[in-house]
Amino acid sequence: MRFEKDIVFVLSKDIFGKINKCIEESVPNEACGFLFGEIDEIDNQGDFNYIYRSKLIQCIESSTTSPVSFLMGNDDQILKISNITIQNKELKLIAVFHSHPAGAYPSNVDKKFMKYYHNCGIKKFTHLVWIIVDSRNKNVNGFIYLDNKLTQIRIELSED
Ligand SMILES: [Zn+2]
Repeated sequence: MRFEKDIVFVLSKDIFGKINKCIEESVPNEACGFLFGEIDEIDNQGDFNYIYRSKLIQCIESSTTSPVSFLMGNDDQILKISNITIQNKELKLIAVFHSHPAGAYPSNVDKKFMKYYHNCGIKKFTHLVWIIVDSRNKNVNGFIYLDNKLTQIRIELSED
């Protein structure tokens, strides 16, 4: 898989703690939810770096064992929830997260939905980051669709 080092997704200790709490509360199902925040664009003499900073998490109660199928089967509801949160906090929807029972890489179903959302024509979904957490060992990876290619990005766990 392609790796883009110029895109960094920063997860604070607080947000990562809340993701893990969401995972624990979702047992026996896998967890899913949204991350809201800001995207900083840094121009290093024409070489752009993008830093996603998550500020707020929304844990979604999934009623199925497959969180991505659940999320994607409810996209109207998702749009509504994300709009409400954005209005209240003036933040952007920057990522969708979900957990896997083992491994932190996209499944074939995930890939299908990632591609679909990238191309669905809703602007706020075009550059959405997908965060996948291994619910056993808490390994975390981030992915984005760029130029119609699935791309892994850097995750940075920060102390503050
Ligand atoms: Zn998945």
